[in-house]
Amino acid sequence: MDCLFCKIVEGTIPSAKVYEDEHVLAFRDIQPQAPVHTLIIPKKHIPTMNDAAPEDMELLGRILLAAQKVARDAGLADDGYRLINNCGRDAGQVVYHLHFHVLGGEKLGPLNVKEQPDR
Ligand code: 5GP
Ligand code: ZN
Repeated sequence: MDCLFCKIVEGTIPSAKVYEDEHVLAFRDIQPQAPVHTLIIPKKHIPTMNDAAPEDMELLGRILLAAQKVARDAGLADDGYRLINNCGRDAGQVVYHLHFHVLGGEKLGPLNVKEQPDR
């Protein structure tokens, strides 16, 4: 399948993995927006949050608990972190394989950051 994150799961595209189990993979974002910026993905190809189904309930829980672990292992548990899913065009989703961003390691800006002119 022509999906970037499926290729990262398969290992045909390399990534800096920080956590992996049978169902979930976490790896560093290639363009970090904070000192810690990790992506948590299901190994199963689910394009967006809109495509998650009741049968994915356990998998969604696994993703959240993996995010918690990644944040804890990165030393973010006490100071805090942000967990983000961009769903669809208006949210700026670029890769259509479900993923959650774990961001932290500094005081983060406002949640609803409007589109910026090219920096
Ligand atoms: P989205 O905007 O879809 O929520 O986020 C996609 C994220 O994937 C972006 O933060 C982007 O930097 C990251 N990304 C895109 N291509 C690659 C890649 O090849 N490797 C890694 N590690 N991250 C990527
Ligand atoms: Zn995929």
